[in-house]
Amino acid sequence: MESIHGPNNGPIDRSRALEAAARARTVLHDEALHRVLSSGNGHEIPVPRQIFVNRNLHFSRVELVGFDMDYTLAIYHLRRLEELSYQMTIERLVTAKNYPPEIRGIPYDHAFVMRGLFIDKKHGNLLKIDRFGHVGRAYHGRTALPDEVLQTLYRNERIRLKNPEYAWIDTLFALPEACLYAGIVDLYEGVLKRPCDYTVLYDDIRHAIDSVHRDNSLKAVIRADLAQYVFKDPELGPALHKLRSSGKKLFLLTNSAFDFTRAVMGYLLDGVVAEYPSWRNYFDYVVTDARKPEFFSGHNPFHEIDQTKEDNSVLSEASVLERGRVYKGGNLAAFEKLTGKAGESVLYVGDHIYGDILKSKKTSMWRTCMIVQEIEDEIAYLESRKDEITTLAEVEALQARLDDEVQRRKVKLNQVERHIEKKDGDEALLEEEFRVTKAELDRVRKALKECTSAVKIVEQDVETGFNKFWGLHFKEGPENSRFGEQVEQYACLYTGRVSNFLFYSPMHVFRSPRDEMPHEHAGALSGKMGVMGSEGLPKASLRAPTEIP
Ligand code: IMP
Ligand code: MG
Repeated sequence: MESIHGPNNGPIDRSRALEAAARARTVLHDEALHRVLSSGNGHEIPVPRQIFVNRNLHFSRVELVGFDMDYTLAIYHLRRLEELSYQMTIERLVTAKNYPPEIRGIPYDHAFVMRGLFIDKKHGNLLKIDRFGHVGRAYHGRTALPDEVLQTLYRNERIRLKNPEYAWIDTLFALPEACLYAGIVDLYEGVLKRPCDYTVLYDDIRHAIDSVHRDNSLKAVIRADLAQYVFKDPELGPALHKLRSSGKKLFLLTNSAFDFTRAVMGYLLDGVVAEYPSWRNYFDYVVTDARKPEFFSGHNPFHEIDQTKEDNSVLSEASVLERGRVYKGGNLAAFEKLTGKAGESVLYVGDHIYGDILKSKKTSMWRTCMIVQEIEDEIAYLESRKDEITTLAEVEALQARLDDEVQRRKVKLNQVERHIEKKDGDEALLEEEFRVTKAELDRVRKALKECTSAVKIVEQDVETGFNKFWGLHFKEGPENSRFGEQVEQYACLYTGRVSNFLFYSPMHVFRSPRDEMPHEHAGALSGKMGVMGSEGLPKASLRAPTEIP
């Protein structure tokens, strides 16, 4: 009897499989069932508020959910905070590093920077890179690099995260430094006509912005007017409450110090939900000054913070982690030991692709959820351009197809030419075949030219409609951007904000779309393209492949 192999159970009777498929089709087309399903309420989450899935996650198996604070629980008003840290960094450069006061006049341009860009510290350029490390767009100062220059500099280069000649703008905190870098390059080389050491410039800006964070001058301004800088999401408290109500424990793991954490978390959560008078009530463990990414691979001990003091002073080294207390430092191994929760039973939610997501994924078995604040705008934009995006995909498929057809006809034309030269066959028939093939080639070539130009124009229109300098966050041309690729590779889930968990049951199974390899896709396409696709192929290639012994 003919049989196929089931995944784990050995051979299955083929007729049983066919019967099962028929039964499944009956369910698939059951209209009454469809009415029941469409009356349910689980499918109406607006796309920008959905949680997207790279790797399946059974939420019921997660016992401990951890959160980063800055740009995760605390969503900052991006432009206001960028502008503030931009201005403070400029002042630091002028006063502490002797930069010319003219840099004060360089305006901040939010649109000119996006997360995921690279700074080429050797050549003074800003780059956007695709998932293979190829440079797709580049600016020197604020001028786009001409194609020839881009090709000369980067054609043979694959940009790697580890290469110290490049700096990756991988957190929202770093956006101002990219903008300032381009602005100062322009100012020096344009108006001031001064030489610019691009590497020193990068190091100076980095150092200045770092000191603005470390000496608390930035945080002092934020704390003085939290409402100006922190977005108070009314659904945050209810979302955390929903997780706790299902029996999950929550923890906070932030690089911010206790005094700042207390101010921000208190502003966000104190008294929002009746059962939780203080933000601390939501969390079973609170760890501040965690020094991620080092937290995930280092050996720093936990210290308990003296909450009666304002200066983040510590009481003693901690040998237990207790609810109601606040800790500083620590490390992953000790955390897992002291909480008794490890590996896949822990979900960590953070915004920093390296410090929160990539590092935790590489050093632990924790599941990860990345908060990508920018995604809400990008999704809204993509929805508004749905028709053009569909057209683009169709024209791109046709373009690839036409390209193949041109090659095929060129080969055929060559063959016929050779037959004519060698007088190999009926001359009139060969001449006719030559004429027909040449006419076809001209026709297909013309169509290809049209398509190529249309693809370029529509693609540029869609991309620059979102951001005229850099296009979309997650894409670079037809490929995923390096940023998109990293999100896909390291974040099990990703979403725009923490409160989106409110829309999902704590028992939800987050399912990723079925993975599809290119050869599977080709199988699906062959139905549509088979007839045209086989035209002109030598007969042998249509035969079943010879079996490899
Ligand atoms: P988290 O996201 O809650 O882990 O906290 C991020 C912390 O890192 C905040 O306290 C920021 O002020 C701080 N931070 C961000 N960028 C820098 C930097 O360049 N140097 C020092 N601290 C930084
Ligand atoms: Mg953060």
